[in-house]
Amino acid sequence: MITGIGVSRGVAVGPAAVVARPVGPDPAEPPTTPATLSAASSRVREALRDVAEGLRRRQDRAPDEAKPTLEAGAMMAGDPGLAGTIDDALRTGAGVTRAVHDAVGQYADLLLSLGGYMADRVADLLDVRDRVIARLRGLPEPGLPVLTVPSIVVARDLASAETALLNPALCLGLVTVEGGPTSHAAVLASGLGIPAVVQAAGLVVENGTFVAIDGSTGQVVVDPTPAKRAEFRTRANQRAAVLASSDAPGATRDGHRVALLANIGTLTDARVAAADAVEGVGLFRTEFLFLDRVDAPTVEEQTAAYAAVLRAFGARHVAIRTLDAGADKPLAFADLGPEPNPALGRRGLRLGMAREDILVTQLAALAAAYRETSADLSVMAPMVATAAEAAWFAERVRAAGIPKVGVMIEVPAAALRARQILAEVDFASLGTNDLQQHTMAADRLAGELGELLDPWQPAVLDVIAAACRGAAEAGRPIGVCGESAGDPGLALVLVGLGASSLSMAVQKVRAVRTVLAAHTLDQCRELAGLARSAVGPQDAKAAVLAAARPVLRDVI
Ligand code: PEP
Ligand code: MG
Repeated sequence: MITGIGVSRGVAVGPAAVVARPVGPDPAEPPTTPATLSAASSRVREALRDVAEGLRRRQDRAPDEAKPTLEAGAMMAGDPGLAGTIDDALRTGAGVTRAVHDAVGQYADLLLSLGGYMADRVADLLDVRDRVIARLRGLPEPGLPVLTVPSIVVARDLASAETALLNPALCLGLVTVEGGPTSHAAVLASGLGIPAVVQAAGLVVENGTFVAIDGSTGQVVVDPTPAKRAEFRTRANQRAAVLASSDAPGATRDGHRVALLANIGTLTDARVAAADAVEGVGLFRTEFLFLDRVDAPTVEEQTAAYAAVLRAFGARHVAIRTLDAGADKPLAFADLGPEPNPALGRRGLRLGMAREDILVTQLAALAAAYRETSADLSVMAPMVATAAEAAWFAERVRAAGIPKVGVMIEVPAAALRARQILAEVDFASLGTNDLQQHTMAADRLAGELGELLDPWQPAVLDVIAAACRGAAEAGRPIGVCGESAGDPGLALVLVGLGASSLSMAVQKVRAVRTVLAAHTLDQCRELAGLARSAVGPQDAKAAVLAAARPVLRDVI
C-alpha cells in the first residue's frame, strides 16, 4: 500500500489503465536507403492509418468537448500531404521515426504560420506524431489509453487536456505519481467527481492489475486481497449513506446562511452543476474555454459561450472570472514572452493590464451576455495585489455595464489590505490555491513540497483570517473559491473565520452541506480558533477532527 494525497473523495476498485509518455524518435534505428524506401513508406502509412482509426474509435465514447480534438487528430493522421512530407524525409535517408518527427515539425511550423484555426491544431498534430512514433517503435501510444472496461487511470502526471478526456462513465478513479493537490489534474478530477490521489510516490503498476484507491485518505493498494476490496467497498457505502441527506441551501445548524456554489470551467461543467442543488457559481474559470487557442476568441464567440453558461443557471448567481492566463494556465494568444518566474510574473490581472485589448473584449462579451440573459452576474479579477489594481478593474467592469464587480484575493498583500481593496469593489473571493502558494512560497504544481502545500497550514489560515477581518470592516462579503472550500473540515473553519459563501467542485457540495448543517456558527468559530492555535497542519486538522461532531469523520 502507498499513501499519496487524496484530492477527490470517494473510493474505487478496478483494473489499472496506465498512461504512457511520449518516447521520441528511436536513436538506434537504421537509416532509410533506396532499397528500403518503399517498405519504410508503407510502415509509416500503416501507422498513420492505425492512429487515425484509433482516434476515431475514441470519439464514440469521448465527452462532447473532446470530440473535435479527436476528429482533428484523425483527419491530420489521414492527410495525404503529411504522408508525402514524411516520404520526402525518408528519401533524404532519415529512419522511420526520425522522418515522422522531422516532417511533422515542418508541418507544425506551417500551421503556426497560417494562424487561426490551423495554428490551433498544432497540439493535435504533435499528439498524432507521438502516437505514430510509439507505434513504429512497438510501444504503447502515449496519452490516455482507450478505456473499454471501467478502470482506474494511473499516470505520472496528467495535462489538463488529457484530464478533460476522462470519461467518468469508464474512469473509476485517477492516481498520479507526481502532481500537487491543486494541480489542474486534481481540480478537474474532482470537478468530474472521480476519486483521485496525487503524489502516490513509488507506485508501479502494470496495465490491468487491480488497484483500490481512497480519494479521502490518499491510500492506494495494488492487487488488493478480497478482504481489502470488501473493506474499501464498505467505506464507499457508509459515505453514500451519510451524504444521501438534504438539498437545502447551505446554512449552519443555527441558521447562519452560507451559500454553497459550484466552480466550473466548461459548458459541460455548467450543465452538470446547474442540474444539482447548488445555489449558483462562485467561480467560472473562463480560461479553460480557450486553452487550446492560438488567436484570441472574438467578442461573438465569447458572448455565445458566456450566455450559454448564464442560461444554464437561470436566476441563480454566477461569478465569472476574467482570464487568468499565465503561470500554470498559459494561453498562447495572451503570452507576453518567457519570464524567469511566471508564477510571480505578468499573470492574472497584471496580464489584463498589459493587454487591455484582451480584457476589454472579454468585458464587452460578458456585458453582452448579461444583456441577453438578464442573469444575476458578477465579474471578478484574478491575482489582484493592491487597491489601485482593484479600482482600475472596477472602473472598466462598471463602464462595460456590468453592475457587480469583485476581486479574487490570492496574494497575501491583498489579504492584508482587504479593507482598502473592498472599498473599491462589491465583494471578494479567496483563491486559496494561489494564496497558499504565495503565503508559503511553494509552487502549487510541485507535489514534492507536500506539507508546505497542505491547506491546513496555520499561517495560511492566519492570512485568510486577516482578509475576512478586512472584509467585515469594509462591510462587504468575502467567499472562498479555492480547493479549501470543498474540504468539509476546512469549510467549517472558513465559515468560522467569516467566509460568506463556499464555492467548490459540485461533487463536494453534499459533504460540505452535511457538516455545516451539523454545527452552529459559534462551533465553527471555535474550530477556527483551534486550527489557528495549532503549530502545524497535521495538528490543526487533528484538533478540528477531535472537536467537531462525528459526522465530519463520516464524510472525509
Ligand atoms: C485559486 O487560486 O485558489 C483559484 C481559485 O484560482 P485557480 O485555481 O484557477 O488559480
Ligand atoms: Mg488562482
